[in-house]
Amino acid sequence: MRSQCTGESNVANPLTIEEFYRPVSDELLEVVLTYSCSKWNVSIPNVVKLPDRPRKFAGKYKQSTNTIQYNRDILGLILHELAHHINKCTNGTHPLPSHGTRYGEILQELLDLWR
Ligand SMILES: [Zn+2]
Repeated sequence: MRSQCTGESNVANPLTIEEFYRPVSDELLEVVLTYSCSKWNVSIPNVVKLPDRPRKFAGKYKQSTNTIQYNRDILGLILHELAHHINKCTNGTHPLPSHGTRYGEILQELLDLWR
């Protein structure tokens, strides 16, 4: 199953536009993945960078291979996909709906950790 994402709409306190588009360096990405996965005691996901598309960010989480795909190094996109990974790994399989209550709780914690 894949989850396709357009932003974070299921949280009480979402990122601002500025926070959502904050650039994430390779070093920061490493820290975000390592720290967050350690906090939830889950494996670190595979990350695959896709070609960028002008004016469009895109991300996908593939639960069968624990893989986050994303086309732009921006905070909001990476945390959105990471929340899918944590939701899947702490539950065994990704609960439906994809952006349900449990997903929203995990994402909110991630946003508050890294904003
Ligand atoms: Zn999503």
